[in-house]
Amino acid sequence: MKEVILIKNGELSLKGLNRAIFEDKMVNAIKRRIKPLGSVKITRSQSTVFIEPIDPDFDVDEALERISYVFGIAAYSRAGECEKDIDKILKFAPVYLKDTMENIRTFKVEAKRADKSFPLKSPEISAAVGGALLSRFPHLKVDVHSPDEVITVEIRDKAAYIRGGQIKGAGGLPTGTAGKAQVLISGGIDSPVAAYLMAKRGLTLNAVHFASPPYTSERAEQKVKDLLSCVAKYSGPIYLAVVPFTEIQEEMAKKCPEDFFTLVMRRIMMRIACIISREQGCEALITGESLGQVASQTLQAIAATDSVCDMPVMRPLIGSDKEEIVKISKKIGAFDISILPYEDCCTVFTPKHPHTRPKPGQCEKAEEKLDMENLIKRAIENTKYYYINN
Ligand code: ATP
Ligand code: MG
Repeated sequence: MKEVILIKNGELSLKGLNRAIFEDKMVNAIKRRIKPLGSVKITRSQSTVFIEPIDPDFDVDEALERISYVFGIAAYSRAGECEKDIDKILKFAPVYLKDTMENIRTFKVEAKRADKSFPLKSPEISAAVGGALLSRFPHLKVDVHSPDEVITVEIRDKAAYIRGGQIKGAGGLPTGTAGKAQVLISGGIDSPVAAYLMAKRGLTLNAVHFASPPYTSERAEQKVKDLLSCVAKYSGPIYLAVVPFTEIQEEMAKKCPEDFFTLVMRRIMMRIACIISREQGCEALITGESLGQVASQTLQAIAATDSVCDMPVMRPLIGSDKEEIVKISKKIGAFDISILPYEDCCTVFTPKHPHTRPKPGQCEKAEEKLDMENLIKRAIENTKYYYINN
C-alpha cells in the first residue's frame, strides 16, 4: 500500500499576493528536511502541499516527524492511495483507517472531487464511505457537527486518497519570510526560547555568543551550540559567532566602577552584536530579556542598552514570566540543556551591588576609561564562526 503526505498551509494562506513566496519558502524547508529520506514528488493545490514518495523505502513516519518542525504548516496528515474505483475505495478505507476508527466513537466523512469525471458526486462518495465504515466498525456513530475525527476522501487525477485526522503543525510563518536577525545567545533558559519565537515569525537566525575563557569553559560553549541546535531543528541552519570577551571583561574590572559592570558589559555586547549583524546582513537583534527578571532588566537598564544599538532590539519574552518561558523551553527540548550548571561570562564578574536604574549619561561616564574602539575591534577580529545545523 502506498502512502502520501498532505500538508495544509497555516497563516500564510492569508498573505494575498505574497502567498507564492511564502509557500515556496515553506516547501523548500520541507524539501530540505526530508531530502535524506529519498526522492519525492511535490505538488500543490489550494493551500495543500502534496508529497508523494517515489523511493519504495521512503520512511513516511520519519518524514512526518521531520515535517512537524517546519514553520508555516497549520496541519499535516498521512493518506493512503487507492485506485479511483468506488468498490476498491469502499474495501480500502476500513482497512487503511482501522487504527484510527478503533480509537474513536464518532466521525464524519468529507469527500473532495478534484477529478470531476469521477462517476459519483462528493455527497454520494461521503455517504458510501461512511456506510462502509459503519458496517465494519459497529461501535461508531456519525456526527456531522463535532465528530472525534473527520475522514477525508480526495479524488485526484491519478488516484483516490483516504485520510484520517490531521496533526497540528508547527504554525507560524516560514523561516526566511521576515528577513534575518541576530540572537544574543547565552547558556540560559531565556535566549533559546526568544530565538525560537522569533524564528516562528519567519526570521532567519544568526547567533552571537560571548565567551570568556579561561573563566568560561569549552563545555559552556558546547552547551550554547547544543541549545542552538534545538532551535535549528525549527529555524534551519544558524551561523554562530563566538566572540572572545575575556580581555574586555578584564579591562572593565580595572577601569570601570564595579556597580556599573553589568550595564557596561551589556552595552558592549550590544555594540559588538550590531557590528557583526551589519556585516552579516541581519536587520535586528533578539535577546531573552524579560522585564524585571534580573537587575539588568529594568526599564532604565533596557534604555541604556538600547541607546548603543543602531537597529531594533526584539525582546519577545519581555512580558512573559518564567513559568511560561520554561514551558516553551521544554517543548523545544532546550530545558534540560539550559539547566546544566556551566558558567556564563555574565556570572564571571558579577558586582555585589549592581546599578539597576542608570540615569542618562552615567553609563557613558562609567565607560570613559575604556579604549572601547580597539577593544571591540580586537574582539571581532578574534571571533570564531560555526555553522549549527540539525
Ligand atoms: P538567559 O536565560 O537567556 O541567559 P537571563 O535571564 O540569564 O537570560 P541575562 O543574563 O541578564 O538574563 O541576559 C539577558 C540576555 O542577554 C540573554 O537573554 C541573552 O540574550 C543575552 N546574553 C546574556 N549573556 C550572554 C552571552 N554570554 N552571550 C550572548 N548573549 C548573552
Ligand atoms: Mg543568562
